[in-house]
Amino acid sequence: MALLTKKEMKHIPIVDNEEEAQFGRVVIDLDNCNGCKMCTIICPTNVLELYGPKHDKKVRLKEGLAMCLSCDNCHAICEYDAIDIKQTYNFAGRYRQINRGAPVHPRRSY
Ligand code: SF4
Ligand code: SF4
Repeated sequence: MALLTKKEMKHIPIVDNEEEAQFGRVVIDLDNCNGCKMCTIICPTNVLELYGPKHDKKVRLKEGLAMCLSCDNCHAICEYDAIDIKQTYNFAGRYRQINRGAPVHPRRSY
């Protein structure tokens, strides 16, 4: 992340404008998800929730402004490869982003 000019610092990104504040997105494989809830617990921005009938719960992104930071913790903790990043965050109006390359998965604990 590079330093901003004073002019750039004055501009606060509009969070519901995708051109200024693009949040991370995850893709969920509903066939693999068993609703164990681990990803919803570890998500630092609390954007994941379970839904569905009691014995067939699945995970999904909450509706509305889902502020996923593309940390990929959900992928790291999921034992069933049911969730992964498909888009990384980019606050274009606030931070000058250096090409970080493809997302790197956090180390798994198992
Ligand atoms: S950790 Fe994996 S299996 Fe468990 S609810 Fe999340 S996506 Fe589904
Ligand atoms: S990538 Fe991080 S912030 Fe985004 S849904 Fe997964 S755990 Fe939450």
